[in-house]
Parts: sequence; C-alpha cells; structure tokens
Amino acid sequence: MTKVSEGIDPAAAKKAIFEYCRKRGALAAGVADLAALERIAPAGHRPSDLMPRVKSVISVGVGGQTRGTWQMPAKAMAYSGSTEVRAYKLAYGCAFFIEQKFGVPSIYVPPDIDPEGGPRVPFQSLKLHAEVAGIGARSLAGDILLHPEFGFMYYASVFTELELAPDAPMAENPCPAPSCVALYRSIGRTPCMKFCPAQCLSGEIDGEGRQKTMRYDMAKCAEFTQEYEAVPKILAEAVRDEVRSSGAQGLLDPDRKMLWYKVSAGSGAWFAQCFECMRVCPIATRAPEADPIRRTEAARRSATDKGG
Ligand code: SF4
Ligand code: SF4
Repeated sequence: MTKVSEGIDPAAAKKAIFEYCRKRGALAAGVADLAALERIAPAGHRPSDLMPRVKSVISVGVGGQTRGTWQMPAKAMAYSGSTEVRAYKLAYGCAFFIEQKFGVPSIYVPPDIDPEGGPRVPFQSLKLHAEVAGIGARSLAGDILLHPEFGFMYYASVFTELELAPDAPMAENPCPAPSCVALYRSIGRTPCMKFCPAQCLSGEIDGEGRQKTMRYDMAKCAEFTQEYEAVPKILAEAVRDEVRSSGAQGLLDPDRKMLWYKVSAGSGAWFAQCFECMRVCPIATRAPEADPIRRTEAARRSATDKGG
C-alpha cells in the first residue's frame, strides 16, 4: 500500500501550508510534536481519538482585538473583542487546502465541547496544540497563552495525515513581564492577579523572575464571566419567574448548559470572557506586534518617509 504522503516533499509542503495560513491572516503557525500530544492529552482527547490516522497537528494563531477594543467595557468585549472565528475559518480553509493541494486527508479540529465530557470539556485542547507547536506559552493568567511578539492570540488546529516536521515549544516564556515581576516583588501579586474581579488567579514567581506556581479557580472565573454570556443569561432570566416549570428549570441544568456552549462555538458573540486579566497584561496589550496599529507602524512610517 502506498503512503498517503508519498512523493510529497514535507519541507515544501509545510512551507506552502504556512504561507496559505499567513496570507489568510495567521500571525503564527506551528506543527506540534504528535508523540508529545499523545502522551500529555488525557485519554479520549488525544489527536488520534479524533483522527485515528493523524500524522501532524498544525496550530495557527490569529491576532486578538484591535487596540481600540481595550477601551470597551467588559460586557461589550465578548461581542467585539474575540477574533476566534477568524482562526476557525482559517483552519477550516487550511484543511481543504491540504486535501486539494496534496490529496491527503485532513480535518478542521472542532473547538467544541465533547458531548460526553460535561459543559467545559472540549474534544481537544487547542491550547495544548499551540503550546507544543511553539506559538504560545502558558501565562499566570489562568494559563492563557501569550506570545512575546503577538501578545494574546486566538488559536485553531488542523489534523492531517501528511507527515510534517514538528516545531519546538518556546524556549522562553514571556510571562511574567519584568513590570509584573516588579509588582509581584512589591505587593505579592501580578497585574492579572490584582485586577481579576473574581480574584480567581494566584501564584508565585521564583527568585529568577520566572513562574513557580500558577493557580486558577476555573469555577470562579466561569461563574463570573457567565454573567456576560448572552444566551445562558437570557435563559436564566426567562426562568426566573414566579412559577417555574420543571422544563424551563431544566434548561439551566449544568449538563444541559453544554448545549449553549456547543451552539455558541464559532458564533463570536455567545461566549464571554471578562478580559480584565488581559486588559492589564503588558504582553497582551504592548507586545511589539500586539495590535494592528503596532503591526503596521513600520509600513506607515516608510509610506510617510517616501511621501516626503
Ligand atoms: S477572565 Fe476575568 S474572571 Fe476570569 S481570570 Fe480573567 S479577569 Fe479573572
Ligand atoms: S499580567 Fe500578563 S505578563 Fe503579567 S503575570 Fe499576568 S499574564 Fe503574565
């Protein structure tokens, strides 16, 4: 039997795939070490659980919100601050691109919740894919991935039977930033810990200014940010009447809430974050290419210089 990727130059294929992704808006792309993912991910959530013949896991990251968005109140940011849909569209297109260009089976990895795993357990950890692919490192803000150049990105993944050389995880973690270490030394907390309205972040920084421990109370964060989730909130209000029918009450059963997460993935408006931990994060907001204004500064300068 011939191998699906026979006759394909893996280095040229990787280059073509990354070029496709960059042209469609990816700031970063990487290939994760499949063996590492298979070892780290829990049973049922390994890449091979979704695609038994997977050979490579491609992770892409798109830029987060515009600089102006950081001025918005938290309740509006879920509608205008999240760019995950762009990442999902890009990954979807990339899976088609690989099949059309190389004739090798590929899938867009659904960011959705695993129906058998409860309301907050996804099929796959896109975060783990990105981390192992070297395009994000875990921060003290609940493990949100940060990138030293692009700050805070949204990630999506593609699985393919095409064999591509893996990239390495980042050698250095940009979190905590020097100013965060200074604040920690003075008050025992970093900006994200200090300004989290739910106070669900804590941790320690070692003598070298590196992460020592990170604690994130996901339930507290979820309880707080669900206040900004439009559909569950509307439903909660709908059943908060004098006489509750058991059917209406059932809509808010924690297990049934999974449905709202399932239908909301990709909508760009139904998921909520409060964003406060990122609003005060120097990497998320001030990394050299963290927003469209910073990313295009050089081009604008050169246009002005040419114009005289
Ligand atoms: S999203 Fe909000 S509640 Fe959750 S960790 Fe960040 S600041 Fe805290
Ligand atoms: S504010 Fe950002 S860089 Fe600083 S500790 Fe928190 S996540 Fe890390």
